[in-house]
Amino acid sequence: MGKSEGYKKYDIFFHEFAHAIDYFYGNHKYFSKNSKIRSALFNDYENLRDSITLKESIAATQRLLGETKFSELYMDKTNQKSKILLSLNSRKLTLARDELGNFTSDQIEIMKDIKLMEIVRKGKNVNWVTQMNVSDIINGVNKGEINPGYGHTTEYWTKYKMQAVEFFAETTSAMINNPESLLQIKKMFPNAYKEYLKVVEDIANG
Ligand SMILES: [Zn+2]
Repeated sequence: MGKSEGYKKYDIFFHEFAHAIDYFYGNHKYFSKNSKIRSALFNDYENLRDSITLKESIAATQRLLGETKFSELYMDKTNQKSKILLSLNSRKLTLARDELGNFTSDQIEIMKDIKLMEIVRKGKNVNWVTQMNVSDIINGVNKGEINPGYGHTTEYWTKYKMQAVEFFAETTSAMINNPESLLQIKKMFPNAYKEYLKVVEDIANG
């Protein structure tokens, strides 16, 4: 069993443990759901998007879409790349390839998410559990549109609005079990992390 396998086992345990505490403290509702974590998380995500240039987003989109033939992508509509391709329509995509495109704000958001996904996936010294923690958070804030490797369904994020609940669980397991992951969470989501600490304080004080 490799080191990452050990991480995997306990990460899930601490993750579920955090959900249990959250649910118990909230009296059969998730306490973190009514905290300020969710809005802080969306703010942090906007800041992350702002830190990425259009040029690097386009380049990342080209890299992602370039790996597969367009015809294959059109055939499989459940494929994440297919969804991206459909949302970026072929003409815009061709423009993206020349870095000349005029994109709608939605398209720019998607391309920035693709760049963020690339950062999470290809980050040096990032073990896969760290990637899983951060991936689930990113998947939540873009409501399931982009999945850097691990996430939940769109319904889970839009109908049940579980972003804060999963952030609470991912951050708690990172705090106990994965310092590297915690560093990345603090760096990418500093405001949500601050709100997380307030929730922990509330729970600790009973
Ligand atoms: Zn969970």
